[in-house]
Amino acid sequence: MNCPYCDYQDSKVIDSRDVNDGIRRRRECLKCEERFTTYERLQPASLFVIKKDERREEFNKEKLLTGLHKACEKRPLPTGTIDKVADDIEAELYGLGKAEIPSTVIGDMVMERLKKLDYIAYLRFASVYRQFADITVLKKEIDSLVGDETKSAISTSQLSLLPSEELAAGRRQRVRK
Ligand SMILES: [Zn+2]
Repeated sequence: MNCPYCDYQDSKVIDSRDVNDGIRRRRECLKCEERFTTYERLQPASLFVIKKDERREEFNKEKLLTGLHKACEKRPLPTGTIDKVADDIEAELYGLGKAEIPSTVIGDMVMERLKKLDYIAYLRFASVYRQFADITVLKKEIDSLVGDETKSAISTSQLSLLPSEELAAGRRQRVRK
């Protein structure tokens, strides 16, 4: 670490103490004698994602956030919800203590959380992630959600949004023709 004042490359440590998850060092530049502080922290081990074609890619939280934001676009979710989901997933992934994790495991973690959070976001993510081959498969997924809803007796207001959104889209298309 170069001196922030004169850019000289050497300094001596005049004080060193443990703080939270690292070490704080008070340093003095050997040239200009200005003092500055450095922190040393343990870098978490890299986590690699095994993609469907077996290629490895370093886990990228930004990418996860992009996917989540896309799925949750214009959904009525409280601010910070998406970041919280990404943080949770990241913590769970590192908590597994593995060097490599199949992308499907991450996908399932996302699905699991979105299902509890917002059905539209869940279906959007599922339609990309599971690449629903045709509408029949998608309908099956929706039907299974309706089943879940009925069983757990939660409000079905979220689900009613989908058919009406589709209807509206269909109507708009028809009008255009
Ligand atoms: Zn200096």
